Amino acid sequence: MKPLHPALEPVYADVLRRNAGEIEFHQAVYEVLESLNPVVDKRPEYVDASIIERICEPERQIIFRVPWTDDAGRVHINRGFRVEFNSALGPYKGGLRFHPSVYLGIVKFLGFEQIFKNALTGMPIGGGKGGSDFDPKGRSDAEIMRFCQSFMTELYRHLGEYTDVPAGDIGVGGREIGYLFGQYKRITNRYESGVLTGKGFSWGGSQARTEATGYGTVFFAREMLAAKGENFDGKKVTVSGSGNVALYAVQKVHQLGGTVVAMSDSSGYVIDEQGIDLDLMREIKEVQRGRISEYADKRGAHVKFVQGGSIWDVPVDVALPCATQNELDEKAARALVSNGVKLVAEGANMPSTPGAVAVFQGAGVLFAPGKAANAGGVATSALEMQQNASRDKWSFSHTEERLDAIMTGIHARTLATADAYDVPGDYVAGANIAGFTQVADAMLAMGVI
Ligand code: NAP
Repeated sequence: MKPLHPALEPVYADVLRRNAGEIEFHQAVYEVLESLNPVVDKRPEYVDASIIERICEPERQIIFRVPWTDDAGRVHINRGFRVEFNSALGPYKGGLRFHPSVYLGIVKFLGFEQIFKNALTGMPIGGGKGGSDFDPKGRSDAEIMRFCQSFMTELYRHLGEYTDVPAGDIGVGGREIGYLFGQYKRITNRYESGVLTGKGFSWGGSQARTEATGYGTVFFAREMLAAKGENFDGKKVTVSGSGNVALYAVQKVHQLGGTVVAMSDSSGYVIDEQGIDLDLMREIKEVQRGRISEYADKRGAHVKFVQGGSIWDVPVDVALPCATQNELDEKAARALVSNGVKLVAEGANMPSTPGAVAVFQGAGVLFAPGKAANAGGVATSALEMQQNASRDKWSFSHTEERLDAIMTGIHARTLATADAYDVPGDYVAGANIAGFTQVADAMLAMGVI
């Protein structure tokens, strides 16, 4: 970790004091603040107007009880969250996460990242995030539905197409968005398509939204390779996770000529040197909601399932962490570097620890942070909002072209900003500064609010 500019030290001290114990939030804030050192010297007006302190404090934080009944009639209580972080550029926008690890610190780290990611897309969306410590694993469809209905029964009063527009994240996919939208519609008696994104295509969703985050990450990685005169052809690739982001990252890598040889879930990873059979993986993960070990059982003797181990031990040219925060630590980064990795692009949010990022940057590995590389999901959510607002439906190819152009644009803007602030090739600093300055300028224009 780099030392902070003296003007930023009290800001960070305040974040620690106000948000005690929220370690993921501290980590996300520090990572942005250390990138802002050169900005503070160039743009002292941000310090004078306390813009950085204001950005670190959410505009609104909502915490609520979510009671629901399981199939045996037992009552369960979970905790629901929505952190409406920043609306300088548009309505709060960011996903909902259902996972037992969710607490306020996770939601705040994700919401904070979302502010800058959303700014980078160039679309008119602010930053927010939400979720619950509910564990959907092993629950029936009826239990998931009752949970989603209870969750929305409180959340609906905080939402609106011009106010706050959630989407999916870990544990929240098309099924959950359907139940959430149904309950919103029922309570409000309004068919307000623009209030949630990630909807089914036949009832207001967008083509390519399901694929968008994974595809977008690979488009971004393609641009990084192209900037060095390279491409995906013949490259060996690891994609961690096997959820929404991971599956479609694999699809796009294969379309661009690379081979994904390893994927994981929280139980372990599989190595398939012939290349992951995506149809089989999707059947297991999307249809049967099974475990990754079943892929090894069904695919054949050449595939190995490694329980517990680190997927980052597999030698590859490109690594795409697409599972969860802090899944790739300094030791894992050293293993990747010693096996010759050339590029790491984050499909997940903050999957690399600060130590891992330092290892990659010190070894000259091309490294892209999630807030730039995985912005394709939220960008396509904004395209879904555009289609909803104009009562229109675009084709898959048109939507994918728009996504590709947005990711190519974020790549160019990130590199140009890194150059302008004398940190050429530093995608972390470039993304943080480009996102921050856009939000900060809007906040300055709007006065003290
Ligand atoms: P998902 O469909 O629920 O899949 C999550 C995957 O990560 C699953 O394979 C899961 O395995 C694995 N995982 C979760 N916790 C883990 C842990 N502690 N250790 C190892 N593996 C773990 O979620 P997703 O939508 O793909 O999201 C993945 C990441 O991308 C998250 O960081 C999310 O914030 C980020 N992201 C998502 C979007 C989007 O559009 N969905 C957009 C931007 C960023 P198990 O099934 O075993 O838990």
